[in-house]
Amino acid sequence: MLKFKDYEYKRPDMEKVEEEIMYLIDEFEKANSSKEQDEIIGKINGIREEVESMSNLVYIRHSINTLDEYYEKEQEFLDENMPLYENLISRYMKALVNSKFRNELEEKWGSHLFNLSEIKLKTFSDEIIEDLVTENKLVSEYDKLIASAKIVFKGEERNLSQMQPFMQSTDRNTRKEAYEAYIGFFEENEDKFDTIYDKLVKVRDGIAKKLGFKNFVELGYARMGRTDYDAEMVANYRKQVFEDLVPVVVELKDRQRLRLGLNELKYYDEPLEFLTGNAIPKGSPEWILENGKKMYNELSKETAEFFNFMVERELMDLVSKKGKMSGGYCTHITKYDSPFIFSNFNGTSGDVDVLTHEAGHAFQFYLSRSFEVPEYHSPTLEACEIHSMSMEFITWPWMELFFEEDVEKYKFSHLSGAVNFIPYGVTVDEFQHFVYENPEATPEERKAKWREIEKKYLPFRDYEENDFLNRGGYWFRQGHIFQVPFYYIDYTLAQVCAFQFWIKAMEGDSEFWEDYLRLCRAGGSDSFLNLVKLAGLKNPFVDGTIREVIKPISKWLDSVDDTEF
Ligand SMILES: [Zn+2]
Repeated sequence: MLKFKDYEYKRPDMEKVEEEIMYLIDEFEKANSSKEQDEIIGKINGIREEVESMSNLVYIRHSINTLDEYYEKEQEFLDENMPLYENLISRYMKALVNSKFRNELEEKWGSHLFNLSEIKLKTFSDEIIEDLVTENKLVSEYDKLIASAKIVFKGEERNLSQMQPFMQSTDRNTRKEAYEAYIGFFEENEDKFDTIYDKLVKVRDGIAKKLGFKNFVELGYARMGRTDYDAEMVANYRKQVFEDLVPVVVELKDRQRLRLGLNELKYYDEPLEFLTGNAIPKGSPEWILENGKKMYNELSKETAEFFNFMVERELMDLVSKKGKMSGGYCTHITKYDSPFIFSNFNGTSGDVDVLTHEAGHAFQFYLSRSFEVPEYHSPTLEACEIHSMSMEFITWPWMELFFEEDVEKYKFSHLSGAVNFIPYGVTVDEFQHFVYENPEATPEERKAKWREIEKKYLPFRDYEENDFLNRGGYWFRQGHIFQVPFYYIDYTLAQVCAFQFWIKAMEGDSEFWEDYLRLCRAGGSDSFLNLVKLAGLKNPFVDGTIREVIKPISKWLDSVDDTEF
């Protein structure tokens, strides 16, 4: 049995790759039948599988051990060479969409590949290369500024994520001071954040106009590969959230206030859910993994096969160690049909989420691994998160294995947290629509607008005397706003879909597992709304969906006596 460590890495010969792909594109354009073109597509898919597998293999090995000089060098090599490779792929896509045998090709390879290629081509032209470099530099500037944070708190210098535990302290003074210190970093650097964002907005607006778009909104959607919904449909979705979901969150926030024994819930109280602390897994990382094995073996024969594959091939690197990058992700190495899960266990319920959420992503790749088209291995991002967020709910019957007597607390926190997140998610989205529809707005106008939108979706939010937050500075911390415009709404769309799996599972609908499998097996072979339909789920953009979905969820949350937690 081949294990991850035996997967062979060979540096792709980029000159040869370029030569071969250019030659194949030329042959493709000269071909006299769809059959000839099919064969060439097959050959290009083969080259892509090799290059992309090697690139992912390097990324994984480098992130597991950043001190390994060999993979550090290989990572540098790929960082330099992958943009050129991407450029080659867009040339291939151009040939693909312009094929004189397009109808026959679409029949064999599926229309989605052609829709994706078309939309991707709209996002690029040689004219904007310099602007893209500027955009990337500004994003790195933001990342560096965030990483530069050194907050002196309780006698020690700390970065932003090291402040989190203090912001969740059960001692009210501590969490208030910690939150003020955390926010202080953003206020001190207000000009810098404003300048970076202002430049980003202007460069993105310029790119959009050069590409022939009215403003950046439509281009932002195209970059996300959205082939079957637009800004108007998203606006209708946000309206439903405002009408049907915000009132539920207002109630949940009031329950949180009562649990914490407070007269008024202030912004610095919100990160703390329970005075008794959050539910945590009751054992070591090895124990968590053993329970994970038991869970997936009991859940279904498909998950049993999948999880045993992950364990036997050593496709999970779960525990923190020296030189390992922070964070967590799931990716795949197509050449070896292997998903890979990377995480840094830290003793919180997040460790269990790795085995449900990231494993949900991995399970989807595992079931759709036989697609030949690389684009079909995973869908666009809003659809991607359905697999993972639904797996978090599908595995609820096994949560007692991990949380024992605190299992009800975990479930309440998991489900209410998912509901609470949605109004914030749409706040971030509505803000970005304002920003890119009004590229000339000043930083002050942007912040004022943020605060206005916040008041609509998060009416309970009380910033007390904090001037900076009252002026609308909260969003500086939200990296997505700087890094990947319009991405954020995807989490909420997927959540509304995942809720529907929760409902089906709770109602004892015996079809739900087949629905889930069908969705995973389809991988990225179709658009978001078609996948939603395929899985038997309701379209989140359509009036009434949110109302229907939230009803049984709020009923369940109401049935829990959270004063016990
Ligand atoms: Zn995810």
